[in-house]
This record gives sequence, C-alpha cells and structure tokens, in this order.
Amino acid sequence: MENVSDIIVVGGGIGGLATALSIYKNTGKSISVFEQAPEFGEVGAGIQLAPNALEVLDYLGVKEDILKVAVQPKRLVLKDVYTAKEVATLDLGEDFQKEFGQPYVVLHRSDLHRVLFEACQKFENIKFFNNQVIQSTEQNDGTVTITNQNGEKFTAEAVIGADGLKSKIRKNFADDEPINSTYVAYRGTIPIEEVSEDLDLDDVIMWIGPNLHMVQYPVRRGELYNQVVVFKSYDATKEDWGNPDEMAKRFEGAHPKVQNALSYINRQFRWPMFDRLPIDNWTEGNVTLMGDAAHPMLQYLAQGAVQALEDSYILGEQLKANDSYEEAFKKYQEIRIPRSAMVQTSARNWGEIIHAEDKVLMLLRDTIFEKHQPKDFHRVDFLYGIFNKYKAEKLIQT
Ligand SMILES: Cc1cc2nc3c(=O)[nH]c(=O)nc-3n(C[C@H](O)[C@H](O)[C@H](O)COP(=O)(O)OP(=O)(O)OC[C@H]3O[C@@H](n4cnc5c(N)ncnc54)[C@H](O)[C@@H]3O)c2cc1C
Repeated sequence: MENVSDIIVVGGGIGGLATALSIYKNTGKSISVFEQAPEFGEVGAGIQLAPNALEVLDYLGVKEDILKVAVQPKRLVLKDVYTAKEVATLDLGEDFQKEFGQPYVVLHRSDLHRVLFEACQKFENIKFFNNQVIQSTEQNDGTVTITNQNGEKFTAEAVIGADGLKSKIRKNFADDEPINSTYVAYRGTIPIEEVSEDLDLDDVIMWIGPNLHMVQYPVRRGELYNQVVVFKSYDATKEDWGNPDEMAKRFEGAHPKVQNALSYINRQFRWPMFDRLPIDNWTEGNVTLMGDAAHPMLQYLAQGAVQALEDSYILGEQLKANDSYEEAFKKYQEIRIPRSAMVQTSARNWGEIIHAEDKVLMLLRDTIFEKHQPKDFHRVDFLYGIFNKYKAEKLIQT
C-alpha cells in the first residue's frame, strides 16, 4: 500500500484538474490525480464557458491563457430550425460583462483541458498517474485507500471523486444509474475555411425545433468552427439508436443553413445523452464528490463543466477555511448541493422548453421569448451571477 499524497483526486477531466489546482493554491497540500486513460486529454469539440466559469478560471490564475485561445462571441441567439427566424437573443457585449464581471467565451475542450493541465504541471506537489481505473475507496482512521483495476492500493488523507457521469466513487453515496434521455449528439469541429456558407461568426447560435436542436460557434481563436447536432431518437430500444440515418430523417424540412451544417457533421461518433437526479449527500468523512460525478446534467444550459469549476473554487476555499477534511467537505456540499441541483433540474426544464413539439406550447414559448430584450440580463442572473451572491453571503473569502 503506497501513501501517495495528502489528497487523491480520482479523474483528470476538467473538474479534477481544476480541483487539484484550486486546492494546491489554497492549502499547499500535495495532490495526486489518478486517471483511467493512458494520457491526460479531452475528447469532444467545443465548450461554452459563461461568466461564472471565467470567475473561477480567473481565481485559478489561468484566465489570460484561456482568453488567448478562446473566442468571445457577441450574442447568444436562438433561431427557429425551419424558418431561421431569430426567436430570442442575449447580448454578450460590454454591458453583459459589466453586469457579471466576466466575459462569455467559447473554446475547444482540449484547449481548456491543456491550459488546466499545464497550470497543474508547474507544481511538483501535484502528481499524475495514468492507466488507473479506480474501483473503490475505503476509509480507516483518518486515511482513505483507493484500489485500482489490478488490485493495487494507494492511500491519502482524503479522496475526491471527479470521475464523471459513470463515477465509481459515487457508489459510496447512491445506488442510482445514469438516466438515458434518449437524445443523442453528434459533434465536431472543422477548419473555418472549409465552411463555405456565410456564417454568423460573432454569434453562438442554437437552432431549435421539436425534439431537436443544433449549436454552432467558432473556437480556437476563430480557426475552427464547432457544431453540435442533437435529436431525440424514436427508437431508443435499438442498439444503434440515434444513428445518422435517423438524424437525416429527424432534420427533414430544416432550413437550408441547417441542412448545409449537417453535411459537415462527423457521423462516426455519437454521444448518447445521460444525466442523473440530484442527491442530497455526496460526502462522508474524508471522501467527497465533484463535477459530473456529483451532479451530471444534460448539456442544454451549457453548465456541466461550469458547475464543476464552481465546485473546485468552493472546495479550495473550504479546505483553506476549515481544520478538518470532514468539516470542509460538509460545508462544501452544503453550499454546492442546492446550487448544482437547481442547475441540473433547470437543464432538464430548458430541454423541455426548447424541444417543445406541441404547437400551443411552441406558440406560448415564442410569444414569451419575443418579449425578451437582448440586454435583459436579470433572466440569466440565476445562472451567471452566483459569485456576486457567494461574495455577498461571505461564502468565499477571495
Ligand atoms: C454534447 C455536450 C456538450 C456540452 N457542452 C457543455 C458546455 O458548453 N459547457 C459546459 O459547461 N458543459 C458542457 N457539457 C458538460 C461537460 O462536458 C461536463 O459537465 C464536464 O466535462 C464534466 O467534467 P468532469 O471533470 O466532472 O467529468 P469528465 O469530463 O467526465 O471527467 C472525468 C474523468 O475521470 C476519468 N475517470 C472516469 N472513471 C474513472 C475511474 N474509475 N478511475 C480513474 N479515472 C476515471 C475519465 O477518464 C475522465 O478523464 C457538455 C456535455 C456534452 C455531452
């Protein structure tokens, strides 16, 4: 049994790396990140980061590196998938930034992951272990032992499960399983010069329609164009549910701009969409959860990774402010469970709204959306304005 460090973080995704960085910067404790993959990295395509994420990246000292590779869009736009009519817009310019204290950015996932990984690598007290599929944890007299796929054991004073949607560490707290939404996503980036059609490169565009949507925005300093196509499968019992043929069928009749975008989409990989229901406890003694391991959500509000970043901030702050792991983790979950549960539930609700298929509901939605002013920021304050609230309530010190 090897004692590796003060703290073990299981999972080296965006959440795990941000947590390692936040805790190290706040406490100076040594941290080992155990990752199942042979290398540290991210698959997938683009990611949207709202001001509440930038607040954390700023706190972690990596905001400037992020801004170098990101794109700052001017608007979030909802468009009708059939008519291309703008249903609602949110202005992301100066007034938005003044309101929330940070910008809204979009970037490639691998860029975000790399910036966090390089920031961690600067500290020799943050160590990395690959090819480690962690199976379980066991607590004993103020130490926690993790066991990998070969039965090898590693100990530390505390363990944080940052092992994503299918978390093994979560089994300490809940016997639930990921819930299949029966929606599937196809996503990818293409070099911007390969996109022939005139594109609104200043916007994050979400095309919405009954049981489907598509998201588009540029990433990597505007060198790549990111597209995500999402639809509900009508035959989710079949093994290849949500296959490319079904995608083509589901988007029949869509606006030519959408059809054109579909022609570029990578059909090789599909991401079935899962979430879980909120749980009311994810901490016991010196073990806790964060990120998707704690509160996996549907991606419709673009807040999954952002919530993981918020977790990392509060974990660092609470470990600095409390004498024991137990107290710190309890306080952390007291702050984070209500907030993340609200976002998890709101993501599902937002999905119902944008994917509405009932004509009356759609009319009602569009009528309400039409009244929305692009600078009506108070409607998104519940998502993006959290750090003002945390500061006002003195839940964070810095
Ligand atoms: C299509 C799509 C679009 C999205 N868009 C956005 C967006 O725009 N903005 C946003 O904020 N969020 C978005 N999300 C959500 C976001 O991707 C996730 O919430 C985020 O990646 C969660 O980070 P995490 O580190 O908690 O988990 P993960 O990214 O899942 O990382 C978990 C890590 O743990 C490792 N691991 C797993 N099990 C083990 C084990 N047993 N032992 C060791 N290591 C293990 C994994 O290999 C992985 O590296 C989107 C999601 C999808 C599917």
